This record gives sequence, structure tokens and C-alpha cells, in this order.
Amino acid sequence: MNILEIEGLKKKFGSHQVLDGLTIHVPEHSVFGFLGKNGAGKTTTMKIVLGLLKADAGEIRVCGERAVYGQTKTNRFIGYLPDVPEFYSYMSAVEYLRLCGRITGMSEKEIRRMSGELLELVGLKGVKKRIGGYSRGMKQRLGIAQALFHEPKLLICDEPTSALDPVGRREVLEIMEQVREKTTVIFSTHVLSDVERICDRVAVLNDGKSVMEGTLEEMKEKHKKDSLLLEFPRKELLKQFVEEPIFQNLLSRAKLEGCQVIIHAKDIEQAEAELIRGLNETRLMPSRLEILEPSLEGLFMEAIQ
Ligand code: ADP
Repeated sequence: MNILEIEGLKKKFGSHQVLDGLTIHVPEHSVFGFLGKNGAGKTTTMKIVLGLLKADAGEIRVCGERAVYGQTKTNRFIGYLPDVPEFYSYMSAVEYLRLCGRITGMSEKEIRRMSGELLELVGLKGVKKRIGGYSRGMKQRLGIAQALFHEPKLLICDEPTSALDPVGRREVLEIMEQVREKTTVIFSTHVLSDVERICDRVAVLNDGKSVMEGTLEEMKEKHKKDSLLLEFPRKELLKQFVEEPIFQNLLSRAKLEGCQVIIHAKDIEQAEAELIRGLNETRLMPSRLEILEPSLEGLFMEAIQ
């Protein structure tokens, strides 16, 4: 089942067409990376999903129910973590979560249970100090606890790791991995390494549309670049290799760097066989020969060009 379905979403600010027929489907229990450059329209999309911004066209379904601008009905399924969450800085985490629980009409018993569980999950259990003295990472973690307080089916996080140092980033990513058992996570980011670490599905937003969507494996398979890396122990050997007439066919789309050469070919197996034959004939011995996996960065750059 898809927790979130966005179909043909359009949004214009003035003459700027930010979303131009965006379609994405987020399956239950996935960690879904919503990728795009700064200004691509990620926050705009999330605000429309939350009913905070009016779309010009398109349809959104959260847990099968239509999300409507200005109405908050479908938000009962959603927990939202903005990029910079705001809190009352004079409160402690426990006080803040208690306030959130009371506002939403939860019983004191339920508030105590949820606060205990969630503060443990985000590593803030027993932290007595006021939120004003928290690091950015701690605030982000408290924001996750708050967003999960009503046990949402979908947790939407807007650039949750962008402003964090490596330690804070790792902590937030680890929490997201843990919560996937209970809820579906969608997070927007332009940090590719975060996506590679925890996402099982990805959509790349460019020019207002999803230009790539699927699991990382599917995307890599589909966009296989067919590259071979060859490394020689010394530069002179690489020079000898590139000057050999026998290899000229293979080198027409090659890239040289240091002692390495990357060869691109349409039929990678044939190119590899040709290469091995040539190496045998010329008695040139590389120290490394491998078929390269396409990187997410390569795919992303390809998708947004
Ligand atoms: P992202 O989250 O991917 O960085 P945003 O959704 O914040 O991108 O913004 C997409 C584009 O829409 C940007 O060019 C931004 O300047 C513009 N934009 C966002 N909100 C408004 C608004 N309220 N009025 C006018 N332009 C806006």
C-alpha cells in the first residue's frame, strides 16, 4: 500500500513554475529520499501535502484519503519535522512534550508513556537542561520525538540533516532507521550520502517533476553507465597503455587520472574481453581492473542535467 500518493502536482509562484506535474508514490514502511537541488521545490511539495499551501493542480492522497488545502484532516496520519524546528527555549524536553500532549488532548498517563518511549528513542532521556541550551542535533532529535508523539503513519522531515555536524547527522539518520518499523519516513535532502545510507526508495525532483524514481538498485541497474576502471602501478605503464594502437578503439571515451583510466563502453563485457586480450598480447599488467557501479552522485547529476 502507498502511504502517500502525489499525482500531477502543479504550483506556480508568480511566473515561476516550481512544480510542473510532480508524481510520486511512497510505499508503506519505506524510508523515502526526496532529492533535489536547493530551490527545486521540496519544501513547497511538503507544505502542499500538509494542506498549508494551495496547489494549482494535482491530487494528493495520504493513507488513501484526499489531502485538501486549508484542512487538517489527513494530518492526523502525519508527523512533520521542519528544517529548523522551533521550541519554547525555557522548557525542558519533558515539559515540552507534555505541553504537546495536553494540546492534543492526550491523557496524562499516555503522555508519560509516549514521552518516556520517545525520549529514549532520540537519546534525550534524563536530559534535564532547558531546550535553549541544546545543540542543533539535540533540537532536531527532540523535533523527531515531537513529530512522532501522536504515532503517525508518515513522518515527513524537511532537510533534517543539512545543518548538522557529522555526529549529529549520524544520530538523526540512526533514529530514522529505527522508526521505519513503526512509520514510513519521507525526507527531503540534497545530501546524497545520507540517502545512500538509509533510503530504500528515492525520487529526484528537477524542473518541477520527478525525473527518477525507484529503489537505489533499480536506478543503478537502469542507468548503468558501463564503465571499467583500470589502474597501473606506475604512470609510465599507463602512458604505454594509452599509446598502444590495439587499445585505441576502447580509449575513444576514456578518462585519465593519475595512474588510472576509466573506459566507457556500450557493451561492457565485450570491452572487458577485448581489453584482457590486448593486455595479454602487450604483456601490460594493470594492478586493478574492475567494472564500476554507477554512484548515486553520478545518477543525480545525470538526472538533473
Ligand atoms: P527546496 O525546498 O527544494 O529548496 P522550495 O520549495 O523552498 O525549494 O522553493 C522552490 C522555489 O519556490 C524557490 O525558487 C523559492 O524561491 C520559491 N518559493 C518558495 N516559496 C515561495 C513563496 N511563498 N513565494 C514565492 N516564491 C516561493
